[in-house]
Amino acid sequence: MRRSQNGMRRCAFDFVNTLGVYLHLPFCDSKCPYCAFYSVPAVDSELIDAYIEALTREIRHRRARLPAAFRLSSIYIGGGTPSVLSVRQLERIGDMIRDAFRPAHDTEWSVECNPGSLDREKAAVLKAAGVNRISLGAQSLDDDILRSLGRRHQVSEVWRALEAIRSAQISNWNMDLIACVPGVGERRWHKVLRQAVEIQPTHLSVYALTLDEGRRLPVVMGQRPLATLDDSGQLRMLRLTRDCLQAAGYWRYEISNYALAGWRCRHHLDCWRGRDYLGLGASAVSRLGAWRRQNVPDLQAYLDGLQRQDDAPHEDEKLSPQVCAAERLVFGLRQIEGVTLDFLQGDEGLPAGPHQWPRPALRELQQQDMIWWSGNRIGLTERGLELADAVALELWP
Ligand code: SF4
Repeated sequence: MRRSQNGMRRCAFDFVNTLGVYLHLPFCDSKCPYCAFYSVPAVDSELIDAYIEALTREIRHRRARLPAAFRLSSIYIGGGTPSVLSVRQLERIGDMIRDAFRPAHDTEWSVECNPGSLDREKAAVLKAAGVNRISLGAQSLDDDILRSLGRRHQVSEVWRALEAIRSAQISNWNMDLIACVPGVGERRWHKVLRQAVEIQPTHLSVYALTLDEGRRLPVVMGQRPLATLDDSGQLRMLRLTRDCLQAAGYWRYEISNYALAGWRCRHHLDCWRGRDYLGLGASAVSRLGAWRRQNVPDLQAYLDGLQRQDDAPHEDEKLSPQVCAAERLVFGLRQIEGVTLDFLQGDEGLPAGPHQWPRPALRELQQQDMIWWSGNRIGLTERGLELADAVALELWP
C-alpha cells in the first residue's frame, strides 16, 4: 500500500480493459429499518447541490487518471434513492456523466428509482440524458407488506412510477422485490409474484429480507416480532419464487436475479465476472486490477475532503493473488452458468495460478452435491444455490 501526500493511501494501476462506472447518491426520504446501504435520510436541496459539486470534482480527478483507452460497459447510478433529486439536479448528474465518460448508445445506463419519487418529468429527463434502464425499488405489491417493511410508498405509487417509465419509453426496467417477510404466507407472496410477472418487467431482483443484529421490522403482520424467517421458511419462499418466475419465462441467471431472454443486467454481470469498476461518491467501492478502493462512507467527511483536495478521502488496498482468486470464485459462482477454470486462474494480469484456488475444497463440495463440475466449468447445484453462503464460507473462510 502507498500513502499519498495528504496521508490517505494511494492506488496505482496500469490498464483497464472493460470498465463499469458506479455513482453513489446517498440520499433517501427516510431510512428503512432493514437497509444496510450507506444513505442519509435528508432531502436538503442545498446539501445535495454541495454533494454534486464534490462529485464533479472527484469525477474530474479520477477520470483524468484512467488509461486513455477502455471499453465503457455500463453506468449504474444507485444509492440511496437517486430519484429524490430534483429535475435540475438529475440534469446536472446526466451532464456530468456524459461529459466525463461519453457513453455510447449501447452502453447500459441504469438508475435506481423509488416509486414515491419518480414522476413523468424525472423519467423524461433521465431518458434525455441517455439512461436506458430503470431499477424500480417496488419491494412489494401489497400495501400491508410495504408497511411492515417500513416503506413510505404505497402500491398505487408503484403503478404511477411504472406509468412514468413507460411514458418516457424506457423499455428496459427492473423491479426489486423483498422475499421472506415475517408474517407473509406462501399464498400472499405468490400473489405478489404473479402480479409482478403480469406487468412484465424485463428483469426481477428478489432478495430475502435480512436484518442486522438487533434490528426489527416496525410492524409484523399477525406474528410475534421475529427478526427474519427461519431457514426452512426462507427456503420454501425462495423455491416458490424460483418456480413462479421460471414458469413465467424469467430465466434465473444469478442466485437472486431473473431476466427475460436478452435482458440480463450488464452491470451485475460485470461485478460477478470480476471486471473493473470505478465507484464514485461517498462510500463507493472501486476495483481496478488488483486494487480495491473505498471512498469514505461519511457524507460530511466526503464533502470536507473534496473542499480541501481534488480527490475524495479514501482507502486503497492491494489485493493478494489469493484474495483475487477467492473473489472470482465466490462471486463468479453466484451465476447459474458457473465459471470456467480459465476464469478462476485469472486474466488481466492477475497472477492467480491453479495452486491458488482450492481444488480439494471444490472436490469435497462436489461430493456433497453442492457443485457440479463439467470439463472446464464448475457451478452450484440446486442444493449449492440454496446454501450459497455456506459454500462461500467453505471456499473463502
Ligand atoms: S430507500 Fe433504499 S437505500 Fe434508502 S433507506 Fe430504504 S432501502 Fe436504504
